[in-house]
Amino acid sequence: MKRIILFAVILAVLLPSFGCREKDDDLRVILIGMDGLRWQEVFGGVDQAVLDCGSIISGDVRKDYWEESREARRKALMPFTWDFIANNGVIAGDRENGSFVSVTNKMWFSYPGWSEMICGYPDDEFITSNGAGPNRNFSFLEFANMTEKYKGSVLAYGSWLCFYDIINYRRAGFPVNAGFVTLPEELTLTPGETVTNDILEGTPDFLGRVRPDAITHEYVMEALRHRHPKVLFAGYGECDDWAHERRYDLSIFCCHHFDRYLKEIWEYTQSDPFYKDKTVFIVTTDHGRGEKAEQWPDHGFNGVPGSGDTWLMAFGKGIPAKGSLSSGEFHTNQIAPTLANWLGFQLPPHEGMGEPIDFDNL
Ligand SMILES: [Zn+2]
Repeated sequence: MKRIILFAVILAVLLPSFGCREKDDDLRVILIGMDGLRWQEVFGGVDQAVLDCGSIISGDVRKDYWEESREARRKALMPFTWDFIANNGVIAGDRENGSFVSVTNKMWFSYPGWSEMICGYPDDEFITSNGAGPNRNFSFLEFANMTEKYKGSVLAYGSWLCFYDIINYRRAGFPVNAGFVTLPEELTLTPGETVTNDILEGTPDFLGRVRPDAITHEYVMEALRHRHPKVLFAGYGECDDWAHERRYDLSIFCCHHFDRYLKEIWEYTQSDPFYKDKTVFIVTTDHGRGEKAEQWPDHGFNGVPGSGDTWLMAFGKGIPAKGSLSSGEFHTNQIAPTLANWLGFQLPPHEGMGEPIDFDNL
């Protein structure tokens, strides 16, 4: 096994990436995910059918986010996505408009989806529960950290404690921070990180091993400002957890704030010469949720149709302004190969690995 891993590592580091963007020699990449955010809300805003579903508390969602047209509703929910990304990048997965994105794993829950996203293939043999333990598969983050160019410049933060396993932090060799774990003092903390640590220590674990996304976001922003990773993974989570709690109002609220986080990250990177015009973004999710209103709280291959359907967005350096696509099909296993390609290396071949997405020729 060790020999196979060593071989894979050498392959990944030595293989030049064919068709990669020669011009992007000094590229930074940021992969951002929101757990279990449905394509229906991304493209259609708040869903009337879910609002009407009696067992779900709807709170103030109608007042704040309801609009008559689909276009107005989605813009009310995710204004940065529909004002900026739709005009400057690519958004895929609007099934009502002929664009399809889905996972290739046959699980349709979180660990398998996040692992497929960062490793580039499904592993339905090993990852059959969220408690699968440390990932036996290697992520593009780990391979990036093995390259001369990106070594020591990879960082992964997430709201859900399970990211320690999904990323296999003991083996990975770069900083990972997730769940109710504060940033360690050894990192020499900034004043902002110290304050965020204090807030995290005083925050109850009301969702079960998932910290509030607002805290993950503060760590992300502080890392961008002071740690300057060239490869950053940010895994947000609350949309999924509030959905499981049957709280459409809070899930929608967190989706709206997720869109604000995207805006803040984008605007910060455009204000800092380290990132400005050198950074490319992919934003996506690990799985969908039930397509029927009464199944909206749930997801899973067995019994929840439509919950393998997802979406993805790309914007920033080198991404053409093609807007919301009306054709084509992509899969979550294409994300890691695409990011590796942009970073100038190829992932070692693996069964189930997706092809890099060529955004210039969609
Ligand atoms: Zn999930």
